[in-house]
Amino acid sequence: MKMLVVDDSRMARRILIGMLPESLRNSAEIHQGVNGEEAVTLWREQSPDLIFLDLTMPVMDGFDALVAIRAQDPDTPILVVSADIQAGAVAKVMASGANGFIDKSKLTAELHDHLKRLGFL
Ligand SMILES: [Mg+2]
Repeated sequence: MKMLVVDDSRMARRILIGMLPESLRNSAEIHQGVNGEEAVTLWREQSPDLIFLDLTMPVMDGFDALVAIRAQDPDTPILVVSADIQAGAVAKVMASGANGFIDKSKLTAELHDHLKRLGFL
């Protein structure tokens, strides 16, 4: 299984990867990107089974990357992981085809629930 983790913060990527259940972390091929443009490129090149996407990033933000990927790929699960939990941002992300929204500050509590819901656990 292939996973794509896109966040402009190396620390945030490391934390997320570190929180993955061991079974997934050890078996998954994990690719990392630092902005939305890389998310789109890596999605095209790697065909990941699951994408984690930050919203606030330079060059191209996560929202534009989500829209660009969804325009061509209705199926690959995309979980947005962001500290921007304003209702407007969450609604916009979900309406654009994300499969879930994880509040960065609640990553520990929410990550496993989303993985389970999407059938990865
Ligand atoms: Mg960011």
